Amino acid sequence: MMPHIARKRFGQHFLVDRQVIADIVDLVAVQRSDLVVEIGPGLGALTDPLLRRLDHLQVVELDRDIVIRLQQQYSPARMTVHAGDALAFDFGRLAAEAGGSLRIVGNLPYNISTPLLFHLAAFGDCVRDMHFMLQKEVVERMVAAPGSRDFGRLSVMLQYRFVMERLLDVPPDAFAPPPKVHSAVVRLIPRPAGELSANDEAQFAALVSLAFAQRRKMLRNSLRSLIDDLRLAELGVSPTCRAEELSVEDYVRLANCLT
Ligand code: SAH
Repeated sequence: MMPHIARKRFGQHFLVDRQVIADIVDLVAVQRSDLVVEIGPGLGALTDPLLRRLDHLQVVELDRDIVIRLQQQYSPARMTVHAGDALAFDFGRLAAEAGGSLRIVGNLPYNISTPLLFHLAAFGDCVRDMHFMLQKEVVERMVAAPGSRDFGRLSVMLQYRFVMERLLDVPPDAFAPPPKVHSAVVRLIPRPAGELSANDEAQFAALVSLAFAQRRKMLRNSLRSLIDDLRLAELGVSPTCRAEELSVEDYVRLANCLT
């Protein structure tokens, strides 16, 4: 097969460290019949060891050259290749067609990680778990606790849907070519239905965006157009708080008083 030249525009940094690869596959701990979807299999660093433990694997890959390689390398009986953009992929439909909940895995292209996480968050109810390699700073923001500098819109919106855990730090030299940033592996498990529940999720998202748009401002100012001081205080939120001091539960409570 022709050697593949890594493409920057597709965020291609291929995992080459055998120990890191083995550690990730162990952390995912697949069972033979699991419904696993790998986003961005690339040259197969995770794909091969995953397939050894699985009857079948679904992959979503954007790079046409890699799609062709995958189709040559694996039989359709073992692998279903979805050629296209994971950002536009309907994971809900795949889960419905396959009749199960998805386990999604990927060493993700870092240039699209935030929009991809938001896209995936919409499919929480048909997902069993997700394991992703991401830029370390993004993982820190995902799992940040209220009060920390990293706590922001990404933290609130993802913690609303998932329980998340940072599992493993990975240095640049585990990849070829090495990225400029450090990486980390994170696990996301959807919260049970109703555990945190906004009456109107669009409104919840809008409130969180508004609060963090000016994260240094007091909430009485940044949320002025939605809630007054009195109402904030009634809901147990000090009007002089800043966005990063509220918990996810606080945001849900505030959003639910708007409807
Ligand atoms: N999993 C491999 C490759 C990681 S590099 C490894 O660990 O070595 C990221 C991969 O995601 C590449 O294969 C790249 O082509 C693919 N990719 C980039 N953007 C994508 C998108 N929008 N949708 C699906 N795959 C994408």
